[in-house]
Amino acid sequence: MPATQPLMNTYARQPVAFSHGDGAWLYDTAGRRYLDCLAGIAVNTLGHNHPKLVAALREQVARIIHSSNLFEVPLQTQLGAKLVELSGMTNVFFCNSGLEANEAALKIARKYGHARGVALPEVVVCERAFHGRSIATLSATGNAKVQAGFEPLVEGFVRVPLNDLAALERVAAERPGVVAVFLEAIQGEGGIQPARADYLRAVRRLCDERGWLLMIDEVQCGTGRTGKWFAHQRAGIVPDVMPLAKGLASGVPIGAVVARGAAAEVFQPGNHGTTFGGNPLAMRAGLVTIDAMEEEGLLANASRIGELIMSGVRSGLAGTPGLVEVRGQGLMIGIELDRPCGVLVARALEAGLVLNVTAERVVRLLPPLIFDDGHAGQLLDTLVPLIRRFLEEGAARAA
Ligand SMILES: *Cc1c(COP(=O)(O)O)cnc(C)c1O
Repeated sequence: MPATQPLMNTYARQPVAFSHGDGAWLYDTAGRRYLDCLAGIAVNTLGHNHPKLVAALREQVARIIHSSNLFEVPLQTQLGAKLVELSGMTNVFFCNSGLEANEAALKIARKYGHARGVALPEVVVCERAFHGRSIATLSATGNAKVQAGFEPLVEGFVRVPLNDLAALERVAAERPGVVAVFLEAIQGEGGIQPARADYLRAVRRLCDERGWLLMIDEVQCGTGRTGKWFAHQRAGIVPDVMPLAKGLASGVPIGAVVARGAAAEVFQPGNHGTTFGGNPLAMRAGLVTIDAMEEEGLLANASRIGELIMSGVRSGLAGTPGLVEVRGQGLMIGIELDRPCGVLVARALEAGLVLNVTAERVVRLLPPLIFDDGHAGQLLDTLVPLIRRFLEEGAARAA
């Protein structure tokens, strides 16, 4: 696709524009209906046009949209308190996006290191990680395509494979400048690759022994998507720093860094800031999102519907050559095939499903957390034959 003038050519966009949505359904400008199995990349937690969210935002827009962090913002305090309660951590900084939350985490790690006398602090990051597209966060990202053309990269990162404790122990033995480990509890862009629970617990122990910060990027897997408020909670650990964003305000731009202990005290006035971050509109959206999730039991729903979808895909595609693995937690699901399958995005759209392919070979499902049995059934009825046909085509061509 050529760029849509006058926009920069940053996206290979599908030739569809959505005019409105309702619940888990999206409608394009021609009036066609699609089942939303992507939620704007894990953003529309409550789906579209959620009555509580719409009413609260209408009311908030009329009251105040933005003031400034030069003044008290009571809604920030409220949402901060809620995040503290849900995470077991102590302090929050609000910003506007995932990369901003990760930038703040990286600044915390460096300043924490300097306070401990480390002149050149290093942060351990993972292969296949995705942390954003600013210069620092693309440097932390483990994907050469994201980095290509933007060198020189930011220094101070040491890379290890995910779920490889021995590699991390070697780093501990060899690199005295390390001050933090930074990883996703479930890699999203990397292809729905979960950090194992025993690995997360071992990393927590190593960080405690070494005085390193454990920083868990929950930008995509956080905010209830996996059936826990935060995906690392299935391992029974608490990180020192936790960036959040995507689904936290159900579509209104937001980012947050939650911290505890020494990490929560690193920033002092003048060290960090943001103009838009923590504005009343985004804070209200975050509060209503969490309220509605609690009221509607959306964590349990994500677990249950996620299992339903995963087991349906597994049984529907059982014995189909070319299916590698169906994996995920709650409503963060990857279907890995043995070949590039980007073409499935357009075919699914044609069939009335909005989904995504990541890491070239992984069909990614990130539906809104309001997905019900009917939505899951519709998804399975459409997606399973679509993938089966795609895999059989390849087999026929090879024969
Ligand atoms: C999307 C994502 C980011 C970047 O978030 P933006 O809001 O696009 O800057 C960072 N980390 C993870 C794990 C993500 O999925």
